[in-house]
Amino acid sequence: MSLVVQKFGGTSLGDAQKIHRAARRAIQARLDGADVVMVVSAMGGTTDKLIDLAREVTPRPPRRELDMLLTTGEQVSIALMAMAIDTAGHRAISLTGGQLGLVTDSVHTQARIQRISKDRLARELSAGNIVIVAGFQGIDERGEITTLGRGASDTTAAALAAVLDADVCEIYTDVDGVYTSDPRIVPQARKLSRIGYDEMLELAGAGAKVMHSRAIEFGKKYNVPIHVRSSLIDLPGTMIMAETPGMEDVVVRGVTLQGNLATVVMIGVPNTPGTASSIFAEVARHNIVVDDIVQNIYDHGRIANIGFSTQEHEVERVREICEAMARERGFGKVEVDENVCKVSVVGIGMRSHAGVASKVFSVLAEARINIHTISTSEIVIGCIVNAEDGHRAMQHLHEAFGLDQEDPPASSG
Ligand code: ADP
Ligand code: ASP
Ligand code: MG
Repeated sequence: MSLVVQKFGGTSLGDAQKIHRAARRAIQARLDGADVVMVVSAMGGTTDKLIDLAREVTPRPPRRELDMLLTTGEQVSIALMAMAIDTAGHRAISLTGGQLGLVTDSVHTQARIQRISKDRLARELSAGNIVIVAGFQGIDERGEITTLGRGASDTTAAALAAVLDADVCEIYTDVDGVYTSDPRIVPQARKLSRIGYDEMLELAGAGAKVMHSRAIEFGKKYNVPIHVRSSLIDLPGTMIMAETPGMEDVVVRGVTLQGNLATVVMIGVPNTPGTASSIFAEVARHNIVVDDIVQNIYDHGRIANIGFSTQEHEVERVREICEAMARERGFGKVEVDENVCKVSVVGIGMRSHAGVASKVFSVLAEARINIHTISTSEIVIGCIVNAEDGHRAMQHLHEAFGLDQEDPPASSG
């Protein structure tokens, strides 16, 4: 028997009507002869509201308690979905991450999946149930409730598809596929019929929130095809799959934006072995994720400035940690810029085409957009710019690389 994992995001579960619509999708797949595992997110906006509520109570909610709070959003959805399927005359059962046996490490709010037990799932499926799993959550070895990071219901779905060897992992959302850029920001963005795991991984990592990047890692590792499609219309979306040779002909596949970033620079630190290590050890000890690390040296190599970017919501904690270090160790000062974002171009074709970076810089220069920090990897070029320039930068880059055209020319670099 075939097995399909269907994930419904919060935007597709906004009200009772939408819950019924999602339920009908799962029932149809069941009637077509497949075993069905559904993964559902919290209803649209719920997780944000819960976070706001926590912050009204305290500016620094303990992360364990934040997880306890946030997981309630998905618990509401699984129960309502099971009721919707039941009332349509079909068998369904809802399961939390803990009931399912989805075990994670203990890093509250950013936990990683360690293993998933198949026993309960297999039992419920063979009893003829559509199994509805709460996305985004798990339990650690001690039975503590954890969450997997914002947007991570996708990851729950891909991980379940991997352990169950599903035929496909379907991601139902409010867009009808993966686009060359966020269609809300770049109206000319074009839907891709397929995309390789590596490019999707980088697009997601660089801000294309249509997919959570760890979901793609599972897909790639276990070769699970992921189908991103609309929960509203029944048309094929985008297949995320192993790369095929022709895919490298396209130099730039997409343009992304990571908003809500902040940059932090520690000015005037000694340029000695172990300085960077001690700074980042301290930041990591607080489980703060950093990116785009830049070090410059001056004063004949004696002094350095060390900068990095982080999520805007972490900025107060980071500022405190860095200022405490600066005081204790006599470093110069800490400078924070909270109004920045990062615009990236992504494409595996960059492996074999030169000149992409210089084109990115000239496009931004012509648009009079100042670049604060540049980062590059094999298939990504990212620029940190002022928050107010982000959308314009995306639109110019999208046009300059011909992404609105059906087949972007390989020579566009
Ligand atoms: P869900 O609630 O279904 O998980 P999300 O809001 O997390 O949905 O993701 C869908 C949104 O991702 C879209 O509404 C779109 O604005 C945004 N998005 C960003 N980049 C892209 C892209 N490259 N292709 C499609 N959608 C994108
Ligand atoms: N509800 C969670 C969030 O909003 C998980 C998800 O939607 O994927 O981040
Ligand atoms: Mg999402």
